[in-house]
Amino acid sequence: MADVDVIIVGAGPAGLSAATELKRLGVARVLVLDREAAAGGIPRHCLHSPYGMREWHRVMFGPAYARRLTDEAQAAGAEIRCRTTVTALRPGGKVEVSTPDGLQVLQGRAVLLATGARETSRAARLVGGTKPGGVMNTATLQGFAAFADHLPFRRPVIVGTELVSFSAMITCLTHGARPVAMIDAGPGPTARAIMTLAPRMLGIPLRFGTKIAAIHGRSRVDGITVEAPEGPQDIACDGVVFTGGFRPENALLRTSALQVDPGSLGPSIDQYGRLSDPAYFAAGNVLHAIETAGWCWDEGRKVARTIDAALHGALPPRAEVGIRTEGAAIKYALPQVISPVGETPPAFDRMQLRLTRPYSGDVGIGGTSHRIDSRPERRILLPLPLSGQGA
Ligand SMILES: Cc1cc2nc3c(=O)[nH]c(=O)nc-3n(C[C@H](O)[C@H](O)[C@H](O)COP(=O)(O)OP(=O)(O)OC[C@H]3O[C@@H](n4cnc5c(N)ncnc54)[C@H](O)[C@@H]3O)c2cc1C
Repeated sequence: MADVDVIIVGAGPAGLSAATELKRLGVARVLVLDREAAAGGIPRHCLHSPYGMREWHRVMFGPAYARRLTDEAQAAGAEIRCRTTVTALRPGGKVEVSTPDGLQVLQGRAVLLATGARETSRAARLVGGTKPGGVMNTATLQGFAAFADHLPFRRPVIVGTELVSFSAMITCLTHGARPVAMIDAGPGPTARAIMTLAPRMLGIPLRFGTKIAAIHGRSRVDGITVEAPEGPQDIACDGVVFTGGFRPENALLRTSALQVDPGSLGPSIDQYGRLSDPAYFAAGNVLHAIETAGWCWDEGRKVARTIDAALHGALPPRAEVGIRTEGAAIKYALPQVISPVGETPPAFDRMQLRLTRPYSGDVGIGGTSHRIDSRPERRILLPLPLSGQGA
């Protein structure tokens, strides 16, 4: 006997929009679990805009956006439990959770994974040197700004030039810190070139082909060593912000029996957002690191509709074999599996691709060739190969 109809792991935009939509569709018991002290996901600590344009056609700041998503889910009748960490995913929709009151096991008729993404840490980047304070990711930086209104440095170096790197730059500038440089190991910015206008106008040096090799300092950062085109150099600074290098928050998947896509590092889904164990579904940045909040919100709503269909026994069985992709530059293509087509519209009605490197040429998806011209960390959308199943 299930404890609830749908358990949603993660109260970010994807999880909360799914909760609201499931309740709107008449699903009786919807339970959202989040390990944080409050619901809302990443936008809670993004003190900037734009959020909310796709959802409500207005420009909002992150905290107000997070509050509105939470209020809507609660008003619709979903239950949200915070400070509740899901620690294991068991077959058939059974999840183990750690709560302030102790450990529990919950059974859902369906489980939606909406655990989001995280940035690559210093440790995962294998940066040498000492371990002083003042080294962090953007999420922590923005947490300092949002919840303490204070940053632990004044002259940090920002590592990376993704969209989020410029968000980190703005957070520094609006909270009394001035980055001494933005560095990137690649030959140019990962974000669109127009994003580099702001640091250039503000006189913040942008250094490409420059890789951080070591961090120095005892209790506080007092400098870094970089490998630059001119050779090794030292840069004086009092903090380091490692930005981007997003990857799905997949810790739960790695200890489960669920299939993981080695390209995206998120779960392998079919066009209904359904995982290899059909009790499990996924939406949002756990599938693709990373998209905008509006994109994840929309996926949450659409996957909620396929979950509702599954609860009514209206989804065709899941295909066993993944679609064939051809193209050396493809990092991942999702959905990874195309199941038989039924009456329920797919949650994913187009293929989403990302590249490992800039590429202009042909790629093959499910036996059909497509011409693409794009760069890494950009979303590429292609038609769903509804007749191209099979490895
Ligand atoms: C610095 C930064 C700035 C951004 N700025 C913008 C912007 O201006 N506009 C925009 O549209 N987008 C922006 N984004 C992107 C946007 O915030 C994300 O796309 C969006 O939050 C993703 O939603 P999600 O629901 O997939 O995941 P998240 O928002 O990451 O939510 C996932 C939730 O899952 C919870 N969770 C994870 N694992 C567990 C577990 N085991 N148990 C319980 N709970 C768990 C987490 O605590 C979290 O609350 C920004 C992102 C970053 C990092």
